[in-house]
Amino acid sequence: MDDDGSTNEYRAALEAAQRHALSWLDTVAERPVRPDADVDGVLASLRRDLPDDGMDPVSVVEELVEASAPGLMAMGSPRFYGFVIGGAYPAALAADWLVSAWDQNTGSRQPTPATAAVEEVAADWLLDLLGLPSGSGVGFATGATSANLSCLVTGRDALLRARGFDPVSDVQTAPRVRFLAGGAVHTSVVLGGRIAGMGAPRTVGADAQGRIDVDGLRRALAEDDVPTVVALQAGDVHSGAFDDFTAAIAVARDAGAWVHVDGAFGLWAAASPRFARLTAGLADADSWATDAHKTLNVPYDCGVAIVRDEAAMTASLGAHAAYLPAVASVSDPYDRVPELSRRARGVPVWAALRSLGRRGVVELVDGLADAATGLAEGFRAIDGLEVLNDVVFTQVCLAARDDAATAALGEWLRAEGTVWASSSTWQDRTIVRFAVSNRGTDAEAVRRTVDAVARGAAELEISG
Ligand SMILES: *Cc1c(COP(=O)(O)O)cnc(C)c1O
Repeated sequence: MDDDGSTNEYRAALEAAQRHALSWLDTVAERPVRPDADVDGVLASLRRDLPDDGMDPVSVVEELVEASAPGLMAMGSPRFYGFVIGGAYPAALAADWLVSAWDQNTGSRQPTPATAAVEEVAADWLLDLLGLPSGSGVGFATGATSANLSCLVTGRDALLRARGFDPVSDVQTAPRVRFLAGGAVHTSVVLGGRIAGMGAPRTVGADAQGRIDVDGLRRALAEDDVPTVVALQAGDVHSGAFDDFTAAIAVARDAGAWVHVDGAFGLWAAASPRFARLTAGLADADSWATDAHKTLNVPYDCGVAIVRDEAAMTASLGAHAAYLPAVASVSDPYDRVPELSRRARGVPVWAALRSLGRRGVVELVDGLADAATGLAEGFRAIDGLEVLNDVVFTQVCLAARDDAATAALGEWLRAEGTVWASSSTWQDRTIVRFAVSNRGTDAEAVRRTVDAVARGAAELEISG
């Protein structure tokens, strides 16, 4: 029995965890964004031989929190701009806790009807919001990396099947599948191609913002008539640029190619009428990958693989074994991702969408883009700094006059702690890259961010 008389063996540990979770969330927006300790610093207090004796769960929680606290990054801060990282809506985080407590292995519909049903509704809502064909197969994967992989494997197999080869039994005799992408293809798409046995994509060129060179694509496709997967991009990780889907998909269709779109964060632009010009034609692709843990602000991990031809998806990713229950007419969750067992990670998606409503999603997407525009305007007004990319969505590439000064500014910012942004290289320049993906990045967060950058530029004598 616990101190409070409860006989629930979870209560005390969960209450301790809730107390610490709330104290983290209470302070996450105002604490320095950077952690105080690095990995070695945390290891110094944490690493030891596994003790012979165990410990009660509350003490485990307390020890975990105490050892971890110095090494926690305020990734949920409205001034965290590193990589492409979302925060978490309250409804999504709460739903995520329930997912853990319910612990439903949501691979198959029959044993876990509740979470399978919630995910099916979330999937329908996603297709509707993103303007993608209803009836498409939707798989809740760990992230856009595994979602890209799921789609690329499906595309490869579908092309082979269309040419009369069984991608399972004819793997030795089947033709090579060509894989093409623009010059700014994301590393996860390269990884997906490698795991799918297609190798890294041959790049056909891109313009200055990273948009695929459609003429280059046409020329590459015309070289020979082999089955081809073309990977397009909605939202370049540096510039935020969107490929010209209408033109690229028309060219790819003429050649009988499978068109996949990596839209890890950019696919969400399709939810807002404001970006209709950027996303035009996108719905004509064969498959799409996106993340919910970025733009939609659900907790990690949650990516979404979407394939127009659901039967092709289940043919490639479906799991079959005598002990697995299956209803012949309906696919199961594990038929649409490369996993058999998994948490019900679509449930927080449902919760985020239910709490936002259609209008809330549009406001979220527009708000992130507004913040990026605000950052770019503020940065441009600082002497000695320039914004290198066309800020069309949520990404801002900032640079000083020379690479060394830009690198120093990135380090200064991360150490100072008001903001956290990644350093990178883009168009042969060192940059500090701001990716706006947190729902809390409002005008005030933008003002404080620009102010911090101005202070850094002054202190490093980049300005004036
Ligand atoms: C983040 C990202 C990915 C990979 O997504 P994960 O969720 O990290 O697996 C792929 N493509 C783009 C453009 C991204 O921004």
